[in-house]
Amino acid sequence: MLAEVPRAGAEAVDEAVAAARAALPAWRALDPGARARLLAAIAANVEEHLEELAVLEARNAGKAIGDARGEIGMVLDTFRYYAGAPERLLGDTIPVAGGHAFTVREPLGVVGLIVPWNFPLTIAAWKLGPALAAGNTVVLKPAELTPLTALRFAELAAEAGLPQGVLNVVVGPGRTCGQRMVEHPDVAKIAFTGSTEVGRSIAAGAAQTIKRVTLELGGKSANVVFADADLQTAAQAAPLAVFGNAGQDCCARSRILVEQSALDEFLAELESAVKSLRVGDPLDEATQMGPLISAGQRETVASFLDDEGVNVAFRGSAPEGPGYWFAPTILCPASPDDRAAREEIFGPIAAVIPFRDEAEAIALANDTIYGLSGSIWTRDGARALRVARAVETGVLSINSNSSVRVTTPFGGFKQSGYGRELGPHALDAYTEVKTIYYATEA
Ligand code: NAD
Repeated sequence: MLAEVPRAGAEAVDEAVAAARAALPAWRALDPGARARLLAAIAANVEEHLEELAVLEARNAGKAIGDARGEIGMVLDTFRYYAGAPERLLGDTIPVAGGHAFTVREPLGVVGLIVPWNFPLTIAAWKLGPALAAGNTVVLKPAELTPLTALRFAELAAEAGLPQGVLNVVVGPGRTCGQRMVEHPDVAKIAFTGSTEVGRSIAAGAAQTIKRVTLELGGKSANVVFADADLQTAAQAAPLAVFGNAGQDCCARSRILVEQSALDEFLAELESAVKSLRVGDPLDEATQMGPLISAGQRETVASFLDDEGVNVAFRGSAPEGPGYWFAPTILCPASPDDRAAREEIFGPIAAVIPFRDEAEAIALANDTIYGLSGSIWTRDGARALRVARAVETGVLSINSNSSVRVTTPFGGFKQSGYGRELGPHALDAYTEVKTIYYATEA
């Protein structure tokens, strides 16, 4: 066993909210430079404990150690980036009659952060950085399966000097603790990352108190490969764009749309890339993909292969024995109507769907309730930009599968959610704009 953590109930949320509320006046009044220095000190302490946090995350979530190091690196980069924010929360001055009007950004108050198990501390940091920078105090609820790095992070933040009550971690189930956060009258906002289904219930619950809500939800992103692309590069990059983190990635490019005339060449290259993917012990430095998070998740993922008419084209390898292993799997040809092409699988299965021309590629890419991420591979620059504008999705990459950065906004269109994390835009989600008018007429 890795660790045992007591399960909190709704009363623990009430205590955490009370602590956050008590800490709010001093935190929001702290001078911006002091708040900036504290966030930088937290980043420095995370950096000092990077390896410890990465191993803890890898063991708890079963993710490849190289990935875990990258994720904890992103945590410290996020804090470094938002350490620049307290002194740059600018307002406007607006010409009006009879005096001066200007705007200031006020913190929201106590903010509730609810995060999933797939990138536990990274996604928490995406919310904590801007929330704290803007002068809010927070209650963070990690996912039941992956609380360990959030708990350790809170210790490291306290060591770095974060005042008591500013960050409170509650480890408990979503349906009790999470729900209490959503209902609590003293919580001003819920920032949620998780499934679209739970996101829907959070939006409905938050409506009772007109809470601010941002939602980062599921995805079913398209990786669109045109025949004029560098097919070898596109095919070699495709496996980790969907099988990274064992496919448990909201940005997973799980629909690979390939122009019909290039299908055979692309598939041959893809097969060799999938078969050479190193699936194994998360703590082995060579590992690229670990097991799934739980028995339940493996069962859900496996059920997609039982569907009628599913064509398994080829599979990679996975170890035998203990662990929720699932070999990376390519379905081809898949129909856009297959369940595997419509639902978020959140596991290492990708559906390859052929298309005839640009118009069909765009129609297929948009034929989903989701709109989070995606890629376009082509050597035709004008086409790349045409398609990029036509695809209904929040982040997109051209001739690359990399679209999440600390410095650029991230979030979804359609039922992938609303609001933006990261970049300068995240601060909008943790502040209210206040307009002040000062009459100057004598
Ligand atoms: P989940 O929705 O089951 O749980 C997410 C969090 O919500 C957990 O902390 C859980 O305890 C809590 N929760 C559950 N029920 C709740 C309720 N009724 N009220 C309040 N809180 C509740 O999601 P998961 O299975 O942990 O994560 C997988 C999902 O997260 C996938 O759909 C994935 O696409 C999505 N995700 C999205 C992003 C993004 O940025 N868009 C990033 C990562 C994961």
